[in-house]
Amino acid sequence: MNDATLPSPPAELRWDELPCAASLIGPQAQLLQANAAWQSLHPAFALGVTWLQAFAAAEREQLSQALGREQDFELLLPGHGCAPDLACRARWLSARQAFACLWHDVSVQRRQEQAAQAQAQALALQASQMRLLADNVPALLAFYDAQTFRCHFANRQYAQAFGLDERSILGRSFSEVIGADARLLVQPQVDRLLRERVTVSYERYLPGSDPARGEDGRWVEVSLIPHLVDGIPSQACFVMINDITRHRVAEIAARESEARLQKFMQASVEGILFHRQGQISDANPPLCRLLGYSLDEMVGRAALDFVVEDLREQAARVMAERRELSYESALLHRDGSRISVELIVRTLESQGEQLRMTIVRDIRDRLAAQARIQHLAHHDALTGLLNRAAFMEQLGPALQLAESRERRLALLFIDLDNFKRVNDSLGHLEGDKVLTTVAERITDCLRSTDLVARFGGDEFVILLRDIASREDVMVVLMALLAVVEVPVLADGCRLCVTPSIGVAMFPEHGGRPEELIQHADMAMYQAKAGGRANYQFFDAELARHAYSDLVLESELAQGLERGEFELFFQPQVAALGGEQGGALIGAEALLRWRHPTRGLLGPDAFIDVAERHRLMVKLGEWVLRAAALQARDWRERGVAAVPIAVNLSRMQFRLDGFGAAVARVLDEVGIAGECLELELTERMLMDEIASAPATLSALRALGLGVSVDDFGTGYTSLAHLTQLPLDKLKIDQSFVAKLPEDGGAAAITRAIIQMARGLGLHVSAEGVRTLAQRRLLADWGCDELQGELIGPPMSAADFEQWLQQRSSAFP
Ligand code: C2E
Ligand code: CA
Ligand code: CA
Repeated sequence: MNDATLPSPPAELRWDELPCAASLIGPQAQLLQANAAWQSLHPAFALGVTWLQAFAAAEREQLSQALGREQDFELLLPGHGCAPDLACRARWLSARQAFACLWHDVSVQRRQEQAAQAQAQALALQASQMRLLADNVPALLAFYDAQTFRCHFANRQYAQAFGLDERSILGRSFSEVIGADARLLVQPQVDRLLRERVTVSYERYLPGSDPARGEDGRWVEVSLIPHLVDGIPSQACFVMINDITRHRVAEIAARESEARLQKFMQASVEGILFHRQGQISDANPPLCRLLGYSLDEMVGRAALDFVVEDLREQAARVMAERRELSYESALLHRDGSRISVELIVRTLESQGEQLRMTIVRDIRDRLAAQARIQHLAHHDALTGLLNRAAFMEQLGPALQLAESRERRLALLFIDLDNFKRVNDSLGHLEGDKVLTTVAERITDCLRSTDLVARFGGDEFVILLRDIASREDVMVVLMALLAVVEVPVLADGCRLCVTPSIGVAMFPEHGGRPEELIQHADMAMYQAKAGGRANYQFFDAELARHAYSDLVLESELAQGLERGEFELFFQPQVAALGGEQGGALIGAEALLRWRHPTRGLLGPDAFIDVAERHRLMVKLGEWVLRAAALQARDWRERGVAAVPIAVNLSRMQFRLDGFGAAVARVLDEVGIAGECLELELTERMLMDEIASAPATLSALRALGLGVSVDDFGTGYTSLAHLTQLPLDKLKIDQSFVAKLPEDGGAAAITRAIIQMARGLGLHVSAEGVRTLAQRRLLADWGCDELQGELIGPPMSAADFEQWLQQRSSAFP
């Protein structure tokens, strides 16, 4: 159809019949004509006022301008208040010099448009917010069409995870995005989503792109979520991917550590127990064995059930405080016995929960060893009695207690008589037997509250507690003397090992432990001096001597170390010769001590103490060596080639292997036996009558001369003398001193000289002080003289000088 065929409108068409508002308006806005619809279009148009007034100023201006241009125009005129929005289309009818205007109320349409626009804006905002959100959640998100499997949306993380960005990914298919292989892998999940229309989740490992550069693979959890519209699945689905690598790694680590722990538990030789809030969850075989239960019997039970009752509270406290520590405790064996253990408690984190692990170490052996060590440290191994240290440890507190309660105590110091002979002749094994017997018997005499210790050797010490008087002590002393008497067969004779007991009372004999011991010890010596199998209470007066002894003893030992001893030499000459005697035939070595404070001391001042305290052996050895050295020196320097006589002590002579010791000295110094002579007293020979002949023979075999010193004072039976291998008798100076006045002394002296000659022995006189004495002795046939008349004991240097003077005086 074209315009040409359009039928022309009926001439009579009236404005009012048009289906829209119409008006004819002049260029100056003069309303020339309008239909009824126009009038009802706007409430203001119906009024008689100028129609233009119906519009607000801006629209009015627009309209006026458009009209003034006398050209077709279209205008949208927004209404204000209750006025409608109007659209005006105007056609310039130049023939009429007016505009034909058609008007439409577009209020509804505009509102719809505005609403649509607002909605669009809101949607855009929403979309950008969505994007912001999506790009910032810690998950990978995408939205796929369920039919085409093309991507409609993806957040940045998702796109980047597959090497794309959030724009380039759009429209790509699922296979294109994740790769064909992966697609194959996840196809079953996708199928399930499509089939069941439910959320499908699965985990997937994405291998790292470059493991060498530390880009490890990731573990992801993928959720495929059907898109529901009003609860009904649409043809789309969300893909949400979460990186669960961290959880997975932790999980694997936990599993591995669990496995390690299990291995460790099984391999450990120590017991291991796990408990959760005090309830046993696991235990290893060693612990089960230790306690005598199977694992099944233990699991589920309270851990505290296995702790001994008296230590349960402690264990509960450790558990409650959740501390990590080691402590000693004891567990209960199935049979009810107690097992000492060390518990090492630790808290472990296992799969998010706290487990308590207890390592159980059996310390019974250790404790037993400790107890043994403790016992050994405090007891004498042989007798099982306390040792000195342990006794002293207890003595102090015992004294304090007695003092605070005003009680008396008695300390008994026991030394065994004859024990040394038993030991020497029967050997240590026999000696040990005697000691254990004595220890048992002593213990039997005492109350359990008394203390008894072996101080070493054959010394025992006893502490009697709660003593009212000396009579109480006497009872014990009598019992000890009666009971502690061990008969032994030694050296073919019956010997009795008996106690010599010294007693010191607390508090009267001393307040301190050491003092009390010392005083009891001194009293013991006094008891011994008074005869064997005896007792003696401490006596201060007697002790004073003993004390100076004690001081001397320690000084002697020091003196020996510091070289304070020296030898003096007294000449021995032939009796026949000049007034001063004949030729030098020997020198007697006499010991001197250059005491640092007391000056030069003779042997009488210290020999006894040295003998008592066994220092004499060392001292005697020193003398022997010094004499040997001097003899060598004089020989080498041509001073005198005479033997030097050395005095022996009892102790030295009694010593096993004395002969060998002398031989060693000779050898070391490098002189012949002839250079020395040994002087022994009668008493020494008689005391060792059994061994003397052999010892003397051995010495003489070495070439040494043997003299009997101080002859005449002892009671040597002649019969014995004749049997002994001797060289010389030295008449004791006490007889010589009384010459010539004392007839008795003279008779004895003459008899000794005769007897000696008869036995083929040399005879010498000591202590010759006067010419008369010398003459008599020479006349009676005495061979040698020694004494002040000839020369006093002198230092080696003085001796040499003396010898020089003498030889120049009597060439
Ligand atoms: P001893 O063996 O009888 O020695 C002789 C003692 O008489 C010496 O006394 C000597 O100095 C002294 N004496 C010598 N001539 C006279 C004199 O004319 N008049 C007086 N009044 N005395 C004279 P010393 O040196 O004091 O020795 C005393 C004792 O000490 C010795 O008596 C001896 O038994 C012992 N002794 C000396 N040195 C040693 C030694 O090295 N070892 C041992 N075990 N005992 C020794
Ligand atoms: Ca002598
Ligand atoms: Ca003498």
